[in-house]
Amino acid sequence: MQEYSKKELKDNIEGYVKLLYRKNMEEATGQQIFQGVAYAVKNIIIEDWMKTHKAYEAQDLKTVYYMSMEFLMGRALGNILINLKADKVVEEVLEELGFNLNIIEEQEPDAALGNGGLGRLAACFLDSLSTLLYPAYGCGIRYKYGMFEQKIEDGFQVEVPDNWLKYGNPFEIKRAEYAVEVKFGGYVRLIRDDFGRDKFIQENYQSVLAIPYDLPVTGYGNHVVNTLRIWDAQAINNFNLDSFDRGDYQKAVEQENLARTICEVLYPNDNHYAGKELRLKQQYFFVSASVQRAVSKYMETHEDIKKLPVKICFQLNDTHPTVTVPELMRILLDEYNLGWEEAWDITNHTCAYTNHTIMSEALEKWPIDLFKRLLPRIYQIVEEINRRFEVLLRQTYSLEDFHKKAEKMSILYNGQVRMAHLAIVGSFSVNGVAKLHTEILKAKELKDFYELYPTRFHNKTNGITQRRFLKHGNPLLAKWITDKIGDGWITDLSQIYKLNKYVKNEQCQKEFMQIKHENKLRLAEYIKSHNGIIINPDSIYDVQVKRLHEYKRQLLNILHVMHLYNQLKKNPDRAFYPRTFIFGAKASAGYVRAKAIIKLINSVAEVVNKDAEIGDKLKIVFIENYRVSNAEFIFSAADVSEQISTASKEASGTGNMKFMLNGALTLGTMDGANVEIVEEVGAENAFIFGLTSEQVIEYEQNGGYNPLDIYNTDEDIKLVVDQLINGKYSREDKELFLPLYQSLLYSQGMERADQYFILKDFRAYEEAQKKVESAYVDKSWWAEAVLLNTANSGKFSSDRTIQEYVQEVWHLEKVHM
Ligand SMILES: *Cc1c(COP(=O)(O)O)cnc(C)c1O
Repeated sequence: MQEYSKKELKDNIEGYVKLLYRKNMEEATGQQIFQGVAYAVKNIIIEDWMKTHKAYEAQDLKTVYYMSMEFLMGRALGNILINLKADKVVEEVLEELGFNLNIIEEQEPDAALGNGGLGRLAACFLDSLSTLLYPAYGCGIRYKYGMFEQKIEDGFQVEVPDNWLKYGNPFEIKRAEYAVEVKFGGYVRLIRDDFGRDKFIQENYQSVLAIPYDLPVTGYGNHVVNTLRIWDAQAINNFNLDSFDRGDYQKAVEQENLARTICEVLYPNDNHYAGKELRLKQQYFFVSASVQRAVSKYMETHEDIKKLPVKICFQLNDTHPTVTVPELMRILLDEYNLGWEEAWDITNHTCAYTNHTIMSEALEKWPIDLFKRLLPRIYQIVEEINRRFEVLLRQTYSLEDFHKKAEKMSILYNGQVRMAHLAIVGSFSVNGVAKLHTEILKAKELKDFYELYPTRFHNKTNGITQRRFLKHGNPLLAKWITDKIGDGWITDLSQIYKLNKYVKNEQCQKEFMQIKHENKLRLAEYIKSHNGIIINPDSIYDVQVKRLHEYKRQLLNILHVMHLYNQLKKNPDRAFYPRTFIFGAKASAGYVRAKAIIKLINSVAEVVNKDAEIGDKLKIVFIENYRVSNAEFIFSAADVSEQISTASKEASGTGNMKFMLNGALTLGTMDGANVEIVEEVGAENAFIFGLTSEQVIEYEQNGGYNPLDIYNTDEDIKLVVDQLINGKYSREDKELFLPLYQSLLYSQGMERADQYFILKDFRAYEEAQKKVESAYVDKSWWAEAVLLNTANSGKFSSDRTIQEYVQEVWHLEKVHM
């Protein structure tokens, strides 16, 4: 595969470093070398990028627009090299120039334009769309500051701005020629046009100019390059102002401010609605720009606006881009002069909605007065959608039922715009992200909508890209798998089942565990240099990395660690297999209890890690600044995958899939995609514990349970809970963890005591942990089980998910390159 000339690559890298920085290779910094390499690589993909779009146009293919507030892309360089199959040659070229590719890759900041699972899913989907040859745009926001960088100071999380564009992004292309105007505020005036039609004119508004930046999304070995289009805002400064406004100094300043603030920063809330006005501005900003551009592009090569659904689908990643529905209506009504029914028919066949959560605190409900003030024309359209929807309800139900249904289902209710309802009513497709999640949607949360629109609802279980999370993140295992079964798994993960014939083979088990050991050494090095903690590579690496959220129950994990420590102190000679508990998690900056849990983990670590009597039997590590780039190698080193959310709360999870693929065993509840992981690998090759989703929902419908019944009767549990307030882990500060203590034992206002059933599940979790220990001691059982996990992870590729969306929702055709 000598597709790329080494000489040319070398000349290009040196040339770009010189051109960009007026330096030769010896003088350049690591960052400058990275930039030079990135430009040399961009030079390779630019031809394919142009050809891909020429091919789409020539073949007039339908395109999916994946609308998402978040794209958690991570680093681009290593991934692009893999997709170009140029990783080896670039590694060699750099070697000859005296540099190491891995170290150069580390110069690239993560593109952290997302919080966690939802944003990473969007990134995996783009990777799969390109690899499977489907025409697609990702549409999002070019945040100046992405997900904050997390520092741990004295055990506390400190947020540092993520200035990821500081050195410039070598892969992006500014497309100033496609700038569009986005309008906010003002009022709507009704006029009669020359044809006697009603026209709605927005006046006295503020506007910003949306400028697109394109990032390449390469397919694996197929020369397809799709586009992630992220929008930046620029002040519009007297461009197109009504004569009325000309010379309005105040307005010019306000518009300037609006443009400056809108793309400034990603909100760091994961699964939580905060209702900030600026957030709604962000939503409308990127949606309006993306939809305007998509419709214009369509009209450049098509005559009939009514056939829009034949060529375009907007997939809404959660409710964040739901204004796509009324924005498309606005364009069709006000700019293309269509009648309501025609416009609605087009919109309703163009938009599709993915639900990501059933947790009430995550549901977006905008106050009507805010919504109306910010988006007056859009609000009028939402009112009319709602009015017609209520007419439908009236026609469908008896008068008595109608009132109940309207209360539960209408879009406008109680002074709020319910975005999920707008998304469902405006879309032809509504999907959940794992089987269990979709079943709960249909049976509980969205039951009324399911009854009204039964054919709209379906499941698309999430997936992950094996190119990043195995081939790039775990090169040793990737090579071993390819040696065993060939490289078909890279683009067809179902082929990984071929490993099943090696699971009982002792030599294969040995090789697999040897690779795991190498990866554990690699992580131990990282921990040594970042945390200054020496961990035992022969210990069980028990890993929980994900956003910090009460429902994900990092608190259950650390309380159990405290319990283990109590037991070891009581009985130091007790048989105990050494264990390293590894955590990584960012908490939303305003989420006080989540931050207290981070502090607790670090405080327990401080006490336990320096206890000489414990030695390396028990170590606790909190990995700072968990993100895609360190995630890639954390998964490869894990033995145990902690997926312990309160059943019914985790819609899918995708971290669980990355662990499975890399040969870690799931310790988890029957929640989200854990259910399907167990289905694939067998319950005997995972450690499942705790309340089921039915049980949790049943308790919730009956006002919860009383944790004091457990606290008062279970001495071990009482001890660990009391240790939250006795100063043991807080250098005698008895207030520090008091809020956690109280949340476990007492109700707080509307919130139930121990709302996430931590104490209720504690003993079941402990039992499952004991099983993990005895299983690990049986080396050959463990080796077979991890091999079985990897061998049966084929379902969890995002390629499979994308293929399902294509067949059942998007109806795309592959491009011929
Ligand atoms: C996969 C991934 C997630 C999602 O993890 P869950 O365990 O599914 O919540 C979050 N953050 C990063 C960096 C990831 O790679």
